[in-house]
This record gives sequence, structure tokens and C-alpha cells, in this order.
Amino acid sequence: MTKKTSKRNRKVRRVKTGIQRLSSKLTQSIVSQSIGEEAMPVVEYLKGKRDISEFQIAKKIRAEVGFVRKMLYALQNHNLVTYFRKKDREKGWYISYWTFNQKGVPELALSIKRNRLQMLKERLKNEQKHEGLFYICPQFCSRMEFEKATEVDFRCPECGKPLQHQDNGKTIERIKENIMEMEQEKAVA
Ligand SMILES: [Zn+2]
Repeated sequence: MTKKTSKRNRKVRRVKTGIQRLSSKLTQSIVSQSIGEEAMPVVEYLKGKRDISEFQIAKKIRAEVGFVRKMLYALQNHNLVTYFRKKDREKGWYISYWTFNQKGVPELALSIKRNRLQMLKERLKNEQKHEGLFYICPQFCSRMEFEKATEVDFRCPECGKPLQHQDNGKTIERIKENIMEMEQEKAVA
């Protein structure tokens, strides 16, 4: 009976607060976008700890040290971890000790957003440059501007069907809306 109660208490304590959940959701999304889902076990293990050796990480998440190092260097490239090296007195070689940099997450999120906004703006420029001059496969396997369409004799390079003229006015509107939404979000953040 008492055992059951204490188990339940532990469970309650482990429930994350709303903010924590939001931040771990952002972390996961940012890590997946910039490095890949496979880096998440390393991140999850490092969170809330300090100065952990790559050997310990590897042991705890049951992965090869080489793989863990690869993930750590990728995380470091995006400023998501910091580390220092120390010579191991017994073994005589250097060991790196790692700490997750939580502050790097919102910074990276912002820079990803900036890049995406930049790409959208370039895409908009390109669509506007070729306004009304796009060609699309009726089966939607390809879409290209007029010059490219002449190169393939107005036939889809994937399935061979004749390309159809497409008015890209709607696409332009949609990109403009996306840009506006993102700029508003940025202003709030
Ligand atoms: Zn096609």
C-alpha cells in the first residue's frame, strides 16, 4: 500500500511543467532540423547535466563512442553544446567533457527562421520574374519556367505528358502570405 503511494508521488513529481514541455519540444524540432533525429538521445541525456565525458554518454545511451562524438561535433557546430578537454592522468589521453547549451536553442531557431524567410523572399522574386510563365505536368511530377519547358519540348521529363501552362498568381499570393506571417512572428519573438 505505502509502496504504491510513493510510486504515484514519484510519477507526479516527474510531470513536466508547460514551459519545460514547450522548450523540449522546441529543442527536439530544432535539433531534428539542423542535425537529425539521431542526435536526440545525446541531447536528452545531456540536458540538465554538466561536463559529461563522451565515454559516459556513449555508455548511458548504449551507442558507439565514435557515433556520440560525431553527434557532439555536429551539435557544437550549431552552438548547442560546449566542452573542455582534460588529460586523463591514468590513461594519459585527453577526454572531452560536454554540456548542453540550452540558450543556443532559441538562437538557432531564430537563425533557421531567418534563413527560411530569406529563401521564401528569393523564391518570390523568382516567381515574380516569371509571372504567368510557368508550366506544370498534369500529374504534378514537374514544374518549370518557360525556358526550361522549351528545353524539354513542353513534355514532362518524368512521365512524358504534355506540360500545361500555369498561372502562378496564386503561388505568388501564397508565398507573400507566408512571408507576412513569418515577419509577424519574428516581430513578436
Ligand atoms: Zn509528369
